[in-house]
Amino acid sequence: MRYISTRGQAPALNFEDVLLAGLASDGGLYVPENLPRFTQEEIASWAGLPYHELAFRVMRPFVAGSIADADFKRILEDTYGVFAHSAIAPLRQLNGNEWVLELFHGPTLAFKDFALQLLGRLLDHVLAKRNERVVIMGATSGDTGSAAIEGCKACDNVDIFIMHPHNRVSEVQRRQMTTILGENIHNIAIEGNFDDCQEMVKASFADQGFLKGTRLVAVNSINWARIMAQIVYYFYAALQLGAPARSIAFSVPTGNFGDIFAGYLARNMGLPVSQLIVATNRNDILHRFMSGNSYAKDTLHPTLSPSMDIMVSSNFERLLFDLHGRNGAAIAGLMDTFKRGGGFSVDEDRWSEARKLFDSLAVDDEQTCETIAAVFAETGEVLDPHTAIGVRAGRECRRSLSTPMVVLGTAHPVKFPEAVEKAGIAKAIELPAHLADLFVREERYSVLANDLKAVQAFVAEHGNRGKPL
Ligand SMILES: *Cc1c(COP(=O)(O)O)cnc(C)c1O
Repeated sequence: MRYISTRGQAPALNFEDVLLAGLASDGGLYVPENLPRFTQEEIASWAGLPYHELAFRVMRPFVAGSIADADFKRILEDTYGVFAHSAIAPLRQLNGNEWVLELFHGPTLAFKDFALQLLGRLLDHVLAKRNERVVIMGATSGDTGSAAIEGCKACDNVDIFIMHPHNRVSEVQRRQMTTILGENIHNIAIEGNFDDCQEMVKASFADQGFLKGTRLVAVNSINWARIMAQIVYYFYAALQLGAPARSIAFSVPTGNFGDIFAGYLARNMGLPVSQLIVATNRNDILHRFMSGNSYAKDTLHPTLSPSMDIMVSSNFERLLFDLHGRNGAAIAGLMDTFKRGGGFSVDEDRWSEARKLFDSLAVDDEQTCETIAAVFAETGEVLDPHTAIGVRAGRECRRSLSTPMVVLGTAHPVKFPEAVEKAGIAKAIELPAHLADLFVREERYSVLANDLKAVQAFVAEHGNRGKPL
């Protein structure tokens, strides 16, 4: 499988190189040159497969030529073997034809584990083969950091540095990162905010001299392997609800457009997905595009669903590429306009094409809490605020009551106690067994000034399993 850039100028890469590449050299994002397409008979024959076996069949074409079948099978069995529920992604029924796909049974209790557990193992496999080591740098306001650290903790060939804003992430989220101890794990609390952390990561990618030749790898949601891993659970859920004989609708709590883009790919690979609902919080750039054909930056609004607090949705470029007939020059032009501070609209027929599949809703904090309370009253289930936004959007936007509506349950409610409390739910939510002692575990992290040079010196000093690069 070959991968091409959405801006048309960077060289095509194979899977192995895409895994290590992050952004393409022309500033674009990598996408498969040709998407695999499965027949209805093939898809039907996968009903009832265990998660890792389905994962093998869905993802095999994407890694073809880079990872041998036997290795890939072993990696997948390993990856999904660490999940705490034997169904890996169980479906829970809320209502007659409404379901939550629980994607929070991984080590860090959010759906990002599906991709990052796999990414860590794939990286280690490829690096061992090349006899190469890499440094990962990332910034997090919460979920991504812990999932990335958990995914890389067993990697012999990776050192990971995750920055979080000091005293500005919840205690559960901080402890999920800082209690994972290992020579190759480096948590940095920056005396600044999330944007400061993000800026330092960007600056480090732009000028990598401080790494003395070691390659820097990104694990943010633009990494192709993360999108790829997320395609699988759309197939998994749909097969359980009668696909491919029956169409399925999905409602997806959305920030960077990675998770829902995976659903769009699943549809293009042959899965009968009749509707995809973009569910956002007040940070609604995608809702403004889907409802009014305007893609324009707004200021950042902190919400009760912080993992969707974004101003731009980086993966949206991948959808725009398809909407423009895969014309890289057109995308480079749009993105240039956007970068210079301008919003844009797309041609009416392209926008209508998107609207055949996508609907959207923006849900504010008050409505989020209302929905948590309502679902609790109906079913006794406590939803996390991101999932609640998905449920709300699913209910308001669904086109057909006879089509099953699957809401992606992106996080466990225990991670977001503030929203649950504000929803008036008195029931205490327990940490799952594997995290029960989280609050008494040893923590390890370094506090650094909001200073790029200091951070880069720290990475150089500790980038080789705690020793200098
Ligand atoms: C990351 C995240 C999202 C948003 O996913 P995108 O792929 O960025 O759209 C939603 N909910 C939770 C809990 C998350 O951690």
